[in-house]
Amino acid sequence: MITKFIKRILRRDPMVRHTLANNSGAPKRIPKKAHRIDPHLLSKNAVKVTHTLQQAGYEAFIVGGAVRDLALGIGPKDFDVATNATPEQVQKLFRKARLIGRRFQIVHVTFFGKGSPEIIEVSTFRALLENAGEHVAENGRILRDNVWGSQHEDAARRDFSINAMYYDPSSETVLDYHGGMADMQKKVLRMIGDPAKRYREDPIRMLRAIRFAAKTGFTLDAATHAPIATLGKLIHDVPSARLFDEILKLLMSGYSWAAIQGLRDAGLHHGLLPLLDHILDGDPESTKANEFVRIALENTDQRIQSGKSVSAGFLFATLLWPDLLRNWKRNIANGMANIPALHDAMDETIATQSNGMVIQRRFESDMREIWSMQPRFERRVGRYPFRLIESPRFRAGYDFMLLRCATGEQSTDLGEWWTSFIAADPVGQESLMALAKNDTSNTGSPTKRRRRRKAKPTAPTADATD
Ligand code: ATP
Ligand code: MG
Repeated sequence: MITKFIKRILRRDPMVRHTLANNSGAPKRIPKKAHRIDPHLLSKNAVKVTHTLQQAGYEAFIVGGAVRDLALGIGPKDFDVATNATPEQVQKLFRKARLIGRRFQIVHVTFFGKGSPEIIEVSTFRALLENAGEHVAENGRILRDNVWGSQHEDAARRDFSINAMYYDPSSETVLDYHGGMADMQKKVLRMIGDPAKRYREDPIRMLRAIRFAAKTGFTLDAATHAPIATLGKLIHDVPSARLFDEILKLLMSGYSWAAIQGLRDAGLHHGLLPLLDHILDGDPESTKANEFVRIALENTDQRIQSGKSVSAGFLFATLLWPDLLRNWKRNIANGMANIPALHDAMDETIATQSNGMVIQRRFESDMREIWSMQPRFERRVGRYPFRLIESPRFRAGYDFMLLRCATGEQSTDLGEWWTSFIAADPVGQESLMALAKNDTSNTGSPTKRRRRRKAKPTAPTADATD
């Protein structure tokens, strides 16, 4: 009983564990002239957090992806801090600090400035798995790991050597435990420890490997690469919400097209998005679909790299569009009317997708809105165009339609018409509508059926989202 209690105390108190920590894993200290991190790229708030913690007597470093990006000369999109203070000790030092998470208990320290608030994520050094035995499932997957440890243990549990460097803004020194700086110079992504074991513990690391390789242009070290071929299937054991988050990060990385190629090359795409299965498996029927997705993703990458926002709903709407289009056309060929055929196809596409990674509901409704707006772009008379513009998601639907024009699926005239219509004054809009009245080439249907007879005025209920 008493030994159990002592063991628990030792594990909980980072200070006690510190004195016990074995020092064999001493890091390499890299001075400023060797790492060349530009202090201007640092977040002032992240520096504030490390200073406050250090002044209170704790150790504190900027860590992880931020140090990797800084060493690459890229301004990190967010900053993580690692410390030997417990979450409760951290929380006491800051006004706006919230304890979050169960599996990884961390503290979010929020700073309000001119723009949107900045959150600095502060985590306590964590122990190695060996010291957290009771939290590991039989298949090796980590379940809970709020077991505090020393800095060198914390470094060993990170994924890649380039993600395991600690930067102290006060001394401008990098502590490098796993040769991250040398790997940066060699442009290599190397998993810390035994890669197969690390993938079994957390299969998401395979997706992270692909994402970082796409982002940095680094190659996977041979031993890091090899086990993925056999362990890739473990990805399907990962809870759906976590898988979704990771795929979203991959798609929003600004390097999504390269990352998707990487997934294919590693054979990791199966069952994530059904669409990826058939386009990436080189189905010749899918050349067009592949082209659509390529243009959509390249467009997204450009937007993200130039600092513009991208909606996840839009992104998934594009990824699933070729599937939707196929189902829609098939329904029409089976005799369904255009709009019911579209709605039925939307249900089917989303249901099929749910066999793979589940797309969260909030994005699903965005996707449905974007899709159902598409036939409405072709109704360019009367009140229709004005009603469409008033839809809350009009901008996304319009961007999506332009994408269809860019890939040749929709006539460029239609895209140009709408671009002019949005910018025109009421008189200009009337003449644009008069022009469109004579254009019978577009029926709102994905099949190239031309209506010879004058179309009956359609009841507004047939309209896609009204
Ligand atoms: P980015 O923020 O650019 O996506 P990142 O490396 O900062 O990249 P985060 O998910 O923010 O990624 O994680 C921060 C750090 O936590 C990583 O750099 C890594 O050291 C560690 N980490 C994150 N996820 C894992 C994981 N699944 N296994 C091991 N270590 C991880
Ligand atoms: Mg990060």
